[in-house]
Amino acid sequence: MYKRVHNFSAGPAVLPEEVLLEIQKDLVDYKGHGLSVMEMSHRSKVYQGIIDDATASVKRILGLGDDYEVLFLQGGASTQFFTIPLNFCPDNQVANYVNTGAWATKALKEAAKIGKKMHVAASSEDKEFTYIPKELELSENPAYLHITTNNTIRGTEYKKDPDAGDVPLIADMSSDIMSRPVDVKKYALIYAGAQKNIGPAGTTLVILRKDMIDKINPGLPTMVDYRTHIAKGSMFNTPPTFAIYVVGLVLKWIESFGSLADMEKHNIKKASYIYDILDNSDFYRGTVVKEDRSLMNIPFRLPSEDLEKKFIAETAEAGMQNLKGHRSVGGCRASLYNALPLKSVEKLAQFMIDFEKNNK
Ligand SMILES: *Cc1c(COP(=O)(O)O)cnc(C)c1O
Repeated sequence: MYKRVHNFSAGPAVLPEEVLLEIQKDLVDYKGHGLSVMEMSHRSKVYQGIIDDATASVKRILGLGDDYEVLFLQGGASTQFFTIPLNFCPDNQVANYVNTGAWATKALKEAAKIGKKMHVAASSEDKEFTYIPKELELSENPAYLHITTNNTIRGTEYKKDPDAGDVPLIADMSSDIMSRPVDVKKYALIYAGAQKNIGPAGTTLVILRKDMIDKINPGLPTMVDYRTHIAKGSMFNTPPTFAIYVVGLVLKWIESFGSLADMEKHNIKKASYIYDILDNSDFYRGTVVKEDRSLMNIPFRLPSEDLEKKFIAETAEAGMQNLKGHRSVGGCRASLYNALPLKSVEKLAQFMIDFEKNNK
């Protein structure tokens, strides 16, 4: 037997145990081929099948039509921060951003850094990023509007896609991709580092609406030009073969779970265990405006930093790991991604109730 902790990590995050066991089973000898996926040529028929299956799963889960390309790239979501303005913001247009926290700030800074005209169309910085701004003020001649659908550090999440009219909507969905249904037709580009909700670190899912291809700026270096990866099916150079394989298994697990509406229902149930405690306690305090709070990342405070330290130490002793808040905001944070089992949330909820009684 093996030991498994209750893993509340914000990322890299918990993977479905079934997926880990399947990897273990197929690790040394992948389905009788006599080698592991790590040792295969990415040009082999077997590997082509693996990436094709993963792509088909993405399309089925999100209900994508033939008007979308699906790519598995490297460099993390952070590489998309500059790849997007390089491709889609010409010099005579303005890249528009909603600033909802640290990741959004990093994204908009990259656009400015590479010399693009950048405009903040809305921001929640005035209240320490504790809400999602609803009003947009787009610039003249906008190239696109970029949002971060779930703010991993602050724990806010869009519940409704913003209306950008004809302006292409681009979203960093790193920490809530496939946790709930989204109207993908509203998005020109969606990207997500795999390591939160759909796999291990090492690959970034990019979904691109085909009408965007004609808008790509000329003269880009090969690796940052989306057309390179579209033309070669994400295999212009060696892709992160093993990470894509694991993503494929996680996607199958998501499909076997049900629809994204089923997944959302399950995630609402999990999150409500913790939010109910925050709402009914004067010991724990949620940090986010109620209507915008995330199903994935739940930051909260205790009455003092000493009690927070004690809470984090005692949860770790009880087999619940990674409940410390991001170093930039402090406090505690529970990340409840798709693969986190209900029993882990139940355990944390019971612990929180007991801890409050013992420390009040
Ligand atoms: C984790 C995270 C990132 C950074 O992803 P990398 O793959 O490490 O570059 C970007 N955006 C959001 C919303 C995240 O949660």
